[in-house]
Amino acid sequence: MTTRNRRFEIRFANQALANLRGRLLRDLSNEYFACLLAKRHDIGELVIFTVVEALYPTWYRSQSAAHLQVDKRFMEQVLIEADSRFDVDTVFDVHTHPFSESNAWFSGGDDNDESTFAHYLYNTAPELNYGSIVFTRSAYKARIWDVDRGRACHYPALIKTQKPSERVPSPDDSSSGEDLVTNDINGMFHRSVLALGLENMRLIANNQKITIAGVGGIGSIIGEHLIHMGFSQINLIDFDTLELSNLNRIVGATYKDARGKRLKVEAIKESLEKINPKACVNAYPISVFDESARHVFASSDWIIIATDNHASRYRIQELAFEYYVPFITAGVNITVDEGQIVDMSGEVILVRMGDNICLTCLKRLSYNEIAKDLHPDGAVRNGLVQKGYVSGHGVKEPAVKTLNTHIATMAVDTLVNQYTERCADVPILVYEDNGFPMIYEDKASLRNKNAECIICGM
Ligand SMILES: [Zn+2]
Ligand SMILES: [Zn+2]
Repeated sequence: MTTRNRRFEIRFANQALANLRGRLLRDLSNEYFACLLAKRHDIGELVIFTVVEALYPTWYRSQSAAHLQVDKRFMEQVLIEADSRFDVDTVFDVHTHPFSESNAWFSGGDDNDESTFAHYLYNTAPELNYGSIVFTRSAYKARIWDVDRGRACHYPALIKTQKPSERVPSPDDSSSGEDLVTNDINGMFHRSVLALGLENMRLIANNQKITIAGVGGIGSIIGEHLIHMGFSQINLIDFDTLELSNLNRIVGATYKDARGKRLKVEAIKESLEKINPKACVNAYPISVFDESARHVFASSDWIIIATDNHASRYRIQELAFEYYVPFITAGVNITVDEGQIVDMSGEVILVRMGDNICLTCLKRLSYNEIAKDLHPDGAVRNGLVQKGYVSGHGVKEPAVKTLNTHIATMAVDTLVNQYTERCADVPILVYEDNGFPMIYEDKASLRNKNAECIICGM
């Protein structure tokens, strides 16, 4: 594939872009400069650069409102750092045009300097990728440099953040497509606009790709909630087929679907598109471990994990951290002892890159459970079941729709709140119905988390 057909994205951890812009645009009487260290990931036509760190020069050779000269030694230090780190293979140079409010562009001087630097890198450190970003007061333009047959050329790139409120517009961002809210001639979202506001509904309905992993008792309700809330691009991942015992809780599945052992993703896709024919719902009857799932997760704006086993959660978290895709997990528990429900609860966990929490340090992943699903030796897997560390495959867990609905609603509320920012973020939200129903924030798990997590520690 040539560079020409590729889509370049520069992804930031939560608050990282706001911090960078805040620091570079604090003083509008001068241009400022920074270097970003990043890691490149090629997944088909999509090329993602995940920003690992920002480095700032301590002084400038010269500096004004429309001019900047950085000390050569600073750039040397940046390249030495980039070269010596296993988690970095890309350098971005970033500078500001504080004289410009929105209109973001690279000047002829920028073109010359950056083209020279692209050639220099190509000759001295060919393993390093190079890109650049310019910020005006309220916009940006970004590009990736490449040297092809002796000529330096550049390709536009877009920035992605964890939260919409950190987002900044770029003249290259023409992917907006149809505005499904303004063109909502049937009035499907009229009441939603009244509640959430036009701008928030536009953010939600246009260009947000949400992937639901697991479309069982919780995932199917989440899918229906997403369609009703206005999300228009939804991926469904689940290789399971329907059976009659699913019909007490899977939304969108019919008796006929279950009798015909239809794929869950196919039945639910059909049901969601019946509600909103303008929505694009993709059905992936695959395991989250399939290589083809990688692109689906990596290209998502959000992942919602509604699978019922530890191994798949572990795998999705791994991919989410690799590509900086924020995710929300939704899970329930019903414990029955001698015919009596002794626990009926569920929780929703919000994980964004840069927040320093994950399922691992919150102790939500059991390695015995993961081993039961993934260990290559069948004897070891069976041994874990026999020893009673985990339950066996095919064991039907108790499940009811009312509990699932509470948890699915909390998960979608958490997602919608990322756009509206109506409420403060709650990393772990618990619903419990043990004699007295309540929803509360689980602060104890946050306090007791493993402070030195290698998965989410940045
Ligand atoms: Zn410039
Ligand atoms: Zn962690």
